[in-house]
Amino acid sequence: MIIAVDGPAAAGKGTLARALAAHYGFAYLDTGSLYRGVAHALLKDGLAPGDADAALKAAENLDPGLIDPVAIRTAEVGDAASIVAVMPPVRAAILAFQRHFAAFPPDGAKGAVLDGRDIGTIVCPDADIKLYVTASPEVRAKRRFLELQAAGSPLSEAEVLADVMARDKRDTERATSPLKPAEDAHLLDTSNLSIETAFGSAVDIIETHRG
Ligand code: C5P
Repeated sequence: MIIAVDGPAAAGKGTLARALAAHYGFAYLDTGSLYRGVAHALLKDGLAPGDADAALKAAENLDPGLIDPVAIRTAEVGDAASIVAVMPPVRAAILAFQRHFAAFPPDGAKGAVLDGRDIGTIVCPDADIKLYVTASPEVRAKRRFLELQAAGSPLSEAEVLADVMARDKRDTERATSPLKPAEDAHLLDTSNLSIETAFGSAVDIIETHRG
């Protein structure tokens, strides 16, 4: 069973996807971490995220097991990730790994939960369940601001909001695999929902679908 969870930055999809994977005993893949891994590799080498040749090389050489989970969480890496994610060859290089993970979840898991921007539309168009998780830009910026602040980031809430809106623009307007709900996705607006309520709504959707 494949559950696709898509949505814009800081909508709560990662938290939700992880909770669903734990609940059903499925494997979980944060596909944003792959783009962040590519971006981090470039920044570490002092290269510009817009350097298409270097980005493709980094994507082809990416070892998901070696991605530094802490270093990729900065606002700078997130921003650079959305720049490399615009490049079709980078997306193509990462596609096979994502599809393989979904088809053959590690550790014998009976299913997989993948979160990202294009899981329901491109990576797993035949996913059993597709959720599109969203929230207002202000709510998302507030959540991301609190996360970054806890990690020691000096960014103000206004700067984080500007960053969230710039990333939304880049993610929705790019030509290849733009962020958009799949036609058969269930929409979940978490603006006014606690994590528990959002999780409960997602489980209801899944159980109704499984019938
Ligand atoms: O989800 P996260 O914020 O970690 O993703 C970082 C960036 O990676 C996003 O802004 C988006 O540009 C890109 N991304 C993507 N497709 C995915 C996952 C992430 O383009 N499936």
